[in-house]
Amino acid sequence: MDFNYSPEDEAFRKEFRTWLEANLPKELAQGELDFFDDTGEDWERRLAWHRKMHSGGWVGISWPKEYGGRGASLMQNVIYNQELSRVHAPALVNLLGIMLVGPTLIQWGTPEQKQRYISKILSAEEIWCQGYSEPSAGSDVASLQTRATEEGDYFIVNGQKVWTSDAHHADWCILLVRTDPAAPKHKGISYLLVDMHSPGVSVRPLVQINGDRGFNEVFFEDVKVPKQNLVGEKNQGWQVAITTLMFERSGVGERRDMLKAVKELADVAKNLRRDGRTAWDDAGIRQKLSQFACEAQALKYTGYRQLTRRLKGQAPGPEGSITKLAASELNARINSFAMELLGPYSQIAYKADHAVDQGKWSYRMMGSRALTIAGGTSEIQRNIIGERVLGLPKG
Ligand SMILES: Cc1cc2nc3c(=O)[nH]c(=O)nc-3n(C[C@H](O)[C@H](O)[C@H](O)COP(=O)(O)OP(=O)(O)OC[C@H]3O[C@@H](n4cnc5c(N)ncnc54)[C@H](O)[C@@H]3O)c2cc1C
Repeated sequence: MDFNYSPEDEAFRKEFRTWLEANLPKELAQGELDFFDDTGEDWERRLAWHRKMHSGGWVGISWPKEYGGRGASLMQNVIYNQELSRVHAPALVNLLGIMLVGPTLIQWGTPEQKQRYISKILSAEEIWCQGYSEPSAGSDVASLQTRATEEGDYFIVNGQKVWTSDAHHADWCILLVRTDPAAPKHKGISYLLVDMHSPGVSVRPLVQINGDRGFNEVFFEDVKVPKQNLVGEKNQGWQVAITTLMFERSGVGERRDMLKAVKELADVAKNLRRDGRTAWDDAGIRQKLSQFACEAQALKYTGYRQLTRRLKGQAPGPEGSITKLAASELNARINSFAMELLGPYSQIAYKADHAVDQGKWSYRMMGSRALTIAGGTSEIQRNIIGERVLGLPKG
């Protein structure tokens, strides 16, 4: 591991920091409260910020220059995320488009598809969602049942997807469909680009325990999709789908800094009075927080180890599962501990009067379980670690 930044990287940091200082309005610098904070107001706030970042050329920086990116290196990407987090910038919109769809189309799209879709992803003129999971195909997504049959120049799609993030905002969807039901399950899948405004598409919100509606059920009833919207070969969509998943896996958790949450919780403890003293005066509480801080640091250095591998040109390996598992489980434990610490205050609703930190701890606690599921559940990560990192026999 080398902790030093090159002069070019420092120059890049300076350039971005200067731009952020000049362009991030104070009222927007509230950060991203959580993964699921998707109220109308929050969406508008993020959209406005996205447009500003795009006008400055700061969206999709790792994309090649010819597609509107900056061709930024991996290290510059890390610096970019550090700087955004430092100034509490809100998250951009169209994250699935930027993180998954654009890079997949750059690799697999026809020249016409690249020309038609790519530039509108970065500008967020068109919002994208990912239609992989179905009611009976989540961890084992290759079991999907949504069908596409051929009719002249079109595929006709019928079926249902579920947990589709941002489908309620989306103009387009990357959709996995079964085009050959007789073939072995990985071999009869195709990858389509579907216009979410087509007749026959309906989106039904799934309201979460914390009241937000970040994702949806999506139904397809005789939806006509032009054949030119097929990505890769017919029945060979699994290969394209895996490319998208690799981009997903390497992007998940990039901006999460667990130590920040531990420090915020330590501040809560310092201000929370009980029995004539603060919660921080209790050695048991300090010990618990110290334990979280140690785990958060260990995670940070594990992340650096992976970064070093990638800087040496090696692909992100199955070790990525260790960080995904450890980060999402630590996040859930930190937020549950916050409930113990806050006691009765943890019951006060998000953004209600008298709530400590606007009630964000109970809000985060209710959202934290989702992070142990999204992008592959904890059990699936354990399977990958057991089989592919530790070389244990398959269960
Ligand atoms: C916040 C969030 C956002 C999401 N966004 C999207 C999206 O935009 N697009 C999309 O397509 N999907 C999305 N998903 C869906 C996500 O990919 C699935 O929820 C996930 O893959 C798990 O699938 P499932 O929910 O069907 O659970 P299942 O696969 O049915 O699993 C149920 C339980 O069985 C366990 N299990 C399953 N298989 C095994 C095994 N082999 N070994 C051990 N245990 C096993 C699981 O760990 C889990 O505990 C999202 C999910 C969340 C939570």
